[in-house]
Amino acid sequence: MPDPNGFLRYPRRLPARRPVPVRISDWREVYPPAGEELIREQATRCMDCGIPFCHDGCPLGNRIPDWNDLVRTGNWDAAVASLHATNNFPEFTGRLCPAPCEAACVLGIGGGDPVTIKQVEVEIADAAVARGGLRPVPAPVPSGRSVAVVGSGPAGLAAAQQLARAGHAVTVYERDDALGGLLRYGIPDFKLEKHHIDRRVAQLAAEGVEFRTGVDVGVDVTAEQLRARHDAVLLACGALAGRDVPETPGRRLRGVHQAMEHLVAANRVVAAAGEGRPALAVRPDGTPIDAAGRHVVIIGGGDTAADCLGVAHRQGAAGVHQLDLYPRPPHDRDEARDPWPTWPWILRSYPAHEEGGERVFAVAVQEFVDDGTGQVRAVRVAEVTVEKRDGRRIVTALPGSERELPADLVLLAIGFDGTEEQALLGQFGARRNARGAVDARPDWQAADGVFVAGDMHRGASLIVWAIAEGRAAAAAVHAYLGGAGTLPAPVDPATQPLAAFARP
Ligand SMILES: Cc1cc2nc3c(=O)[nH]c(=O)nc-3n(C[C@H](O)[C@H](O)[C@H](O)COP(=O)(O)OP(=O)(O)OC[C@H]3O[C@@H](n4cnc5c(N)ncnc54)[C@H](O)[C@@H]3O)c2cc1C
Ligand code: SF4
Repeated sequence: MPDPNGFLRYPRRLPARRPVPVRISDWREVYPPAGEELIREQATRCMDCGIPFCHDGCPLGNRIPDWNDLVRTGNWDAAVASLHATNNFPEFTGRLCPAPCEAACVLGIGGGDPVTIKQVEVEIADAAVARGGLRPVPAPVPSGRSVAVVGSGPAGLAAAQQLARAGHAVTVYERDDALGGLLRYGIPDFKLEKHHIDRRVAQLAAEGVEFRTGVDVGVDVTAEQLRARHDAVLLACGALAGRDVPETPGRRLRGVHQAMEHLVAANRVVAAAGEGRPALAVRPDGTPIDAAGRHVVIIGGGDTAADCLGVAHRQGAAGVHQLDLYPRPPHDRDEARDPWPTWPWILRSYPAHEEGGERVFAVAVQEFVDDGTGQVRAVRVAEVTVEKRDGRRIVTALPGSERELPADLVLLAIGFDGTEEQALLGQFGARRNARGAVDARPDWQAADGVFVAGDMHRGASLIVWAIAEGRAAAAAVHAYLGGAGTLPAPVDPATQPLAAFARP
């Protein structure tokens, strides 16, 4: 029986982050482990609500009050089993998810402090490793059917694990040189150290999943060849087409880059250093990969921008500005706009924001300024207002508000326009829709025998949605192959995040 007064006795507490001067001198994760005493105390704050609204916030349907209570009572093995019943990779979501479950927690009503669900999750995930490792769960009987999964991000890996455990022979094809999708070279080590991915990949391999890296499907192997080798194909190629501003004067100057170009290069340097390999110092256009001593301007306000900020500080940038088109969001939930338990529009500060830099709101870049040699030296910004008219975004610059910010390196982190246009799409008979995503029928098929999941289907989203879609699409593949019984399907292709109103 959970403690109904736990939240009255204990305030919400998270483990202290590593001190800023220490953590920006390395690439290790920002949070140390919470320790058993703190996490059991925090799990005690869960009321085990009759209607646990936290469930509505989580697309995976994680059994949050169950494992909170198992942690409260120190029943770690059962907590590990309960968490893994709905989530293949809780060490990824526990570290990286923005936690829509916490936004939906009953304790958050009226500005209260929700249960630290995400921290409890990560501690359970780490307990699984500490208490005997991630044991493989191989299928008792092979089905004799085979599946190709294209893309090794969280959607592809979750689907691969579900299908392998159901007895199918699964091969994951990945064009990159290492597995993990955006988790490998997109997300920096200070948010997710890469041994977490390696450990899961080892578990999948022990469950029979085969991995082929360095294979660009559609180029190195055709759709026809893949379909001849396998009974079904699941595409989980992500949404990696970066949004750009080609019309802004100076966009082609040296030093102005897509954020992902810089992040991937920087994360590769860290990976190489960890393995004792030499790493590239400059990109093909001559721009140093290291921001040391440089003025950096990051354009955008989301995860990607915050990751660029953390990277810039660890590289020793002289100064960083992070620009956002929209005004500074409020600190508290606006109940009229985003009533509980929906995801609120509030000021989100990441650990990277504690580390330095200046956030500038309600500005738009008018020009990237040339230093006379073809290298950017500044950005010229104007204060702006943004409004929606007929579903279109209208940005208006305020006359006389222009100024320059110094910039040797500019990173565009303004979102993604869906999945990349690439040969594989046409070969499999799949097409990008108006949002750049690939539509799926209710049974997750984009074309006969070709399934789609994750960001490629949903558009750039979150790891928790990628895992949920990977699991659901795997269930559909299993049914298509005539597999025995059913696999869990937490979402369907039309499932949307919890919302009070339909947004235009
Ligand atoms: C910088 C950054 C930070 C982020 N931070 C967070 C965060 O903190 N929390 C969070 O929840 N989400 C975060 N996200 C979003 C999250 O990473 C994605 O939603 C998630 O990774 C999507 O998973 P996926 O499996 O659908 O695709 P991806 O992770 O994008 O994986 C797709 C894979 O497909 C491969 N591929 C593509 N085409 C082919 C081909 N033709 N042949 C073979 N392989 C191919 C790609 O190489 C890639 O490895 C972040 C995103 C970015 C860009
Ligand atoms: S809504 Fe919050 S308090 Fe209620 S069961 Fe979920 S985590 Fe516990």
